Formats: sequence, structure tokens, C-alpha cells
Amino acid sequence: MGLLAAMTADGFEQVAFGCDAQTGLRSIIAIHSTQLGPALGGTRFRAYPDEQAALTDVLRLARGMTYKAAAAGLPLGGGKAVIIGDPATIKTEALLKAYGRFVDSLGGRYLTAEDVGTTQHDMDVIREVTDAVTGTDPARGGSGDPSEATAEGVRWAIRAVVGSDDLAGLRVVISGAGKVGSGLARRLVADGAVVVASDTDRSKVDRLRDELGVTIVDPAEAHRTPTDVFSPCALGAVLNPKTIPELACTAVVGAANNQLAEPADADRLEATGITYAPDFVVNAGGIINITDELSGAGYDRERALARVARVADTVREVLEIAASEAITTTAAAERLAERRIAAAGQGTLRRFR
Ligand code: NAD
Repeated sequence: MGLLAAMTADGFEQVAFGCDAQTGLRSIIAIHSTQLGPALGGTRFRAYPDEQAALTDVLRLARGMTYKAAAAGLPLGGGKAVIIGDPATIKTEALLKAYGRFVDSLGGRYLTAEDVGTTQHDMDVIREVTDAVTGTDPARGGSGDPSEATAEGVRWAIRAVVGSDDLAGLRVVISGAGKVGSGLARRLVADGAVVVASDTDRSKVDRLRDELGVTIVDPAEAHRTPTDVFSPCALGAVLNPKTIPELACTAVVGAANNQLAEPADADRLEATGITYAPDFVVNAGGIINITDELSGAGYDRERALARVARVADTVREVLEIAASEAITTTAAAERLAERRIAAAGQGTLRRFR
């Protein structure tokens, strides 16, 4: 199948290629859907092995953003961008501005944000040439780092899955004590939960143990540590044919993107009886936070964090759909998103500029 035929079959609206000889910019922006609103998604800056790998990645990620925004009930579509090259060697202010002009040329149909290989400072540079950028410096009215909002969303998701706002005594194993995992650990310890943490970077869990008194477990042991909730907050593909039979939890609720190594893992998890809260529903706190920035009323951190509570409603809705329609929770979350997109119909693009 050719590229355009494959894009059409997958529901894509547009893929744009942007380059600039002077700065070495090579970039692709994929707009999967603007049916619910402008296509929002981060800019991934990475030394892809070749252009085809970059294209495959940006298409996959853009489509995922459509589902994430729709499942969260946000007035946003899905998009993503990649800049090809090693950010440590080719990233310059001139390149970022050339990229910003490329983003601007799409007229607000695509809104960018920080992702792997880009930083809040990069978004501030891009902001100098376009207003189609989010997650800029809070001092300039942006919403800044989304990690705290994401951690808050995971806490709400856990509450929804265990069916109680009281988490005292709940055992949670957090795999990945980075920005989201550590924020989650602080919240859960404050809630009286019993937290076990793991990270391949020992210094991070040591800091967390000193600060919060959490127990540390080896990263290879995290998923098979007996617990109520296993919370993947590191890398993807942590739920796979090898790890799923070893899980010793009653629920998996975490922030990491793409936790299932392959689609069939949703069925494998279902067969174990473990409740899986789909990652793109659980980690929507970050994008809910950004939406507050776009509301026109000016970003308000308190209001944004309060809105993150809706993650719990979405998780409950997903669990209900899965039970009543006898499908996996992943299929239920996708169905919820598709219903919202279908209900919106065509031509509802709202511009935030
Ligand atoms: P981060 O880089 O700050 O933290 C990730 C941590 O995982 C690091 O401390 C790293 O050392 C650790 N790690 C790596 N491999 C590991 C392994 N095998 N076992 C245990 N720990 C390991 O990233 P983050 O911003 O906290 O994001 C965590 C996850 O959540 C990522 O998958 C990210 O895509 C996803 N996510 C983050 C946000 C956000 O707002 N930051 C939003 C949505 C989704």
C-alpha cells in the first residue's frame, strides 16, 4: 500500500514535511485528526536511523494523541512532530525557529509541545515565531512541565480503579522514579499508601527513600513484587508475554506510554483477571493541564490540577464499557474515544489563535 492510501485507511488528514538548508532542519508533522479541535502533540527530536523510521514513528504517535485527547473528553485533535537528528549536536536556536515557522505555516491546525529530545526552553524559543506552541515558561503564561499534573492524574486513576478515594494502606509498586513516578510517590505517601519504588538509576530511588521512607526494589523484580497496584512509570512494553504471567498485583495503573508490547497483551492481561487501566487514559493529566493554557482565560495551575480529577471519571467509564460490552479495557477506551470523535462530526475545528 502506498503512503497516501495507508494514511487514508488510518484516518489521517495531513502529513507535512519541513526542511531548511541553512539550519539543517528535517522535520515531519503528522495531523491525524482535527475533528475535535486543533491537533495537539509534542515534538520528538531524535537521531532516527532513517527517514522512514521517523515517518513511522510520527504517524503512530499522532494517531495515539487523537485517542488520548478524545478519551479524556478534550476539545483537541491528535498530531505529532519529529525533528530528525541528534539534539545534542544539531539543535540550535536558528533550527528551532525554522521549525517554529514550519509549525506556524499550518495555521493553528497543529499545536506543538515538549517531548523526548525537546525542553520547555525549546518551546520558549519556538514561541518567538509562532503562538501554536504549548508548555512554555509559566512566567510567560505557559503551563510549563506537565509531570505534576500527570502524577495527579495517575493518583485519580488509582482511586477510580480501587473504588475509593481513601488510599491508606494500599500497596503500590512504582516502576520508574522519574518526574512522574516521584510525584506519584509523594502523593501516595501523603495519602497513607505503602509505596515500593524502583529505578534503573539508583540515585533517584535513594533520594526518594531518604525523602519519603519508601522501600526500594530491583527494577527487574518490580512487576513481580506482590502488591495491590503495579504502576509502570518508566518505559513502554513493560507488559508483554514474559512479564504478564509474573505479575503479582490486582491492578496495573501507570503513566508510562505504550505499556502493552503488542495489542494481544490486552487479551493476555484480561485473562489473568488483573484490572488494566489503559495508559493513554491514566496519563492524560499532562494534556488536560495544557488544555487549561489554551482556554483563553490564562493558565491557572490550581484550576488545571482540579480538572485532572476527570481522569477518574474516564477510568470509571472505561471499566463500565469493558464490563457491559465484554471487551478489554483497552478496546473500551478506544471505543469511548471513537464514539466521541464520531459524535463531533466533521468540520468542527476550533482555533486557539
Ligand atoms: P523521566 O525520564 O523523568 O522518568 C523515567 C524514569 O524511569 C527515569 O528515572 C529512568 O531512570 C527510569 N527507568 C528507565 N528504565 C527503567 C526500568 N527498566 N525500570 C525502572 N525504571 C526505569 O520520565 P517521566 O516524565 O517521569 O515519564 C515517565 C513515563 O510516563 C514515560 O513513559 C512518559 O512517556 C510517560 N508520560 C509522561 C508524561 C509527563 O507529563 N511527564 C505525560 C504522559 C506520559
